[in-house]
Amino acid sequence: MDMEKRRVAVITGGSRGIGAAIARQLAKDGIDVALICSSSREAAEAVCQDCRALGVRAEAYSCDIGAFADAKQVVKEIKEAFGTIDILINNAGINRDQLIAMMKEADFDDVIRTNLKGAFHMIRHCTPIFIRNRGGKIVNISSVAGLMGNAGQANYAASKAGLIGLSKSVARELAGKNVTCNVIAPGFIATDMTKEFDSDNPLVASIPLKRMGRPEDVAAAVAFLVSAGGDYITGEVIRVDGGIAM
Ligand code: NDP
Repeated sequence: MDMEKRRVAVITGGSRGIGAAIARQLAKDGIDVALICSSSREAAEAVCQDCRALGVRAEAYSCDIGAFADAKQVVKEIKEAFGTIDILINNAGINRDQLIAMMKEADFDDVIRTNLKGAFHMIRHCTPIFIRNRGGKIVNISSVAGLMGNAGQANYAASKAGLIGLSKSVARELAGKNVTCNVIAPGFIATDMTKEFDSDNPLVASIPLKRMGRPEDVAAAVAFLVSAGGDYITGEVIRVDGGIAM
């Protein structure tokens, strides 16, 4: 039997795409995983099955992380079920792309609510646990859009740039508590969010590494940050983008 207690990671948006790949990678690394999705509960359960097959504990939760009280409740449930939380991966995100001249107020609000406020809620509710544990690791999934901007994505880019400011502040604030907080900024990754892109898209030709990324490419960077190799890294932004934003 494994004598050392396994660590526990919470992954928002774990039902598909990048979040599902992160869950499988952390499970492979022997970390228990709690997956949060908004509505694709069955898909999240299937990811849990993959993780359990790798020998860890995995449970799925439905929660709208954009709601402060709902996020608080799900963190409480996860802590009760798993005993603690050691790692938080804020990956859940949405896009409502539109040119600025036509963007509706709701398109802006919805994206900020999920991508930025959702991450704040999860950090806010996990932090007391990390402080009590005298340690924790937070990884926030931003985007190269947050670094460079992107036409048609003013709302999304604002949310992702906001996530970087949030992360650096949290990194400074919690460093003394042995809690690290880092950001990954993916480029074009093949998931539901980018399904309108294919390898013929001219944007792909502009990527120095000449291909879209895979969810596993992002998951590998997350695995590094939450490993011992990431212990002395905080407030960092790591691009996983095939070189597009350098
Ligand atoms: P997907 O659209 O494939 O998956 C989004 C995930 O977020 C789903 O699990 C979804 O749950 C969950 N989610 C959405 N809203 C909420 C909410 N309110 N509460 C809880 N969960 C929610 O996205 P990707 O895998 O492509 O992207 C993952 C992250 O990476 C996002 O933050 C995205 O912005 C970022 N990113 C993606 C890039 C890409 O090219 N794909 C590039 C750069 C960044 P459900 O299944 O129930 O809807």
